[in-house]
Amino acid sequence: MARYRDAVCRLCRREGAKLFLKGDRCYKPSCPIEKRGTQPPGQHGNSMRRGKALAGYGQQLREKQKVKRIYFILEGQFRNYFERARKLKGITGVALLAFLERRLDNAVYRAGFSTSRRQARQLVNHGHVLVNDRKVDIPSFQVKPGDVISIKEGSRKNVHVEGAWQTAAGRGRPAWISAGGDMTATISALPTREDIDRSINEQLIVELYSK
Ligand code: SF4
Repeated sequence: MARYRDAVCRLCRREGAKLFLKGDRCYKPSCPIEKRGTQPPGQHGNSMRRGKALAGYGQQLREKQKVKRIYFILEGQFRNYFERARKLKGITGVALLAFLERRLDNAVYRAGFSTSRRQARQLVNHGHVLVNDRKVDIPSFQVKPGDVISIKEGSRKNVHVEGAWQTAAGRGRPAWISAGGDMTATISALPTREDIDRSINEQLIVELYSK
């Protein structure tokens, strides 16, 4: 499992973009990116790096790091998704993103049971998440159309889960997940490129791994 012990906001500043790693705070004016802009962390962040436009390999590498950080996964697992995507028909970059998007921890976050993917992963790891009424504690589990995600009865009153669910509509759910009134979420389709973060340039990652 990916673990970052450093302040996660530094990761956003490093990538020069909001990666939404900290739940509710990401939607508030106190978000460091909102307050300070995209200046990289460190004393010389602004003067040393942002000035030079990244190109070629550097740009490809940064894009891969950004996506790994968004989904909170490590290199080996990321590479594994890429290899699986490469074997499929269609556009490799889009297939890669679909694998990431269909992870159970991501689906729990996108459905609105948590305010961040990190929090979603904890819910899954600690056995609070059910898929089709059966406990699934594997964050990388791939959801598919027809699956129904819910939270274990005793955990639904958890203040974080309840709060996240109540504010999820305001943050917006993707078209491939439909929320039920009984605090359930149904996977209604496979995620398409339109459902996934538009700031990601997956082609750069494909180019990086194809060298
Ligand atoms: Fe921190 Fe979230 Fe803002 Fe990123 S988006 S800098 S994680 S508050």
